[in-house]
Amino acid sequence: MNVIIFGPPGAGKGTQSSFLVKKQNMYQLSTGDLLRAELKSKSELSKKLQEIMDSGKLVSDEIINDLIEKKVSEPSKKNNIIFDGFPRNIQQAQALDAMLNKYDQAISLVLNLKVDNSILVKRISGRVSCSVCKKPFNEFFDPPGDPTKCTTKECKDRELIKRSDDNESTVSNRLKIYEESTLPLLKYYNSKGVVKNIDAMKSINEVTNQINGIILDL
Ligand code: AMP
Repeated sequence: MNVIIFGPPGAGKGTQSSFLVKKQNMYQLSTGDLLRAELKSKSELSKKLQEIMDSGKLVSDEIINDLIEKKVSEPSKKNNIIFDGFPRNIQQAQALDAMLNKYDQAISLVLNLKVDNSILVKRISGRVSCSVCKKPFNEFFDPPGDPTKCTTKECKDRELIKRSDDNESTVSNRLKIYEESTLPLLKYYNSKGVVKNIDAMKSINEVTNQINGIILDL
């Protein structure tokens, strides 16, 4: 089963994907994570990417579609991918369909995480995560004991980091782009009958339960 986890920045796509990875043994394909890994290389491309990402704009479809095809074409991942942060516009959705067709795969489910904008700004600007285990915390809703350290047993005292694009000025641009370019994709996937709506205003556990219930019913 291939799944798209869909929703605005801060909806909890990464958090819920990591649970699906554990429970369903799926592969999480996060375009944001792949791009952030590229930034560490300090290549010419990484400088351009950093600028685009810090402004909250979208990286070119060509770069993104190349990253995606490398993963979709791997036989070990066939029909077992959670697409997180992709597709983000209609061109990417069409490119994904063509790719899946080429590798004899399909999208079975689009999980639409619905959250009010008023909450998203706080969720994003308060977001920090462990530099090692990636566990997310939120300075407003789920503050770690020491605001600079991870509290999990394995990582105790490891540093918490904040993404450079998780600040209030970039957030409004990211939300605007989501509404203009990404949200219209719901119509595209609704017409294929694969969208399930999730109330993502609820607690992390409640959202996970809604998702597990939908997957059980498939
Ligand atoms: P995310 O981690 O999904 O919030 O993505 C962080 C940033 O990476 C975005 O604001 C974009 O600049 C870039 N990005 C991630 N995924 C995509 C995508 N599918 N298309 C274009 N840009 C993307």
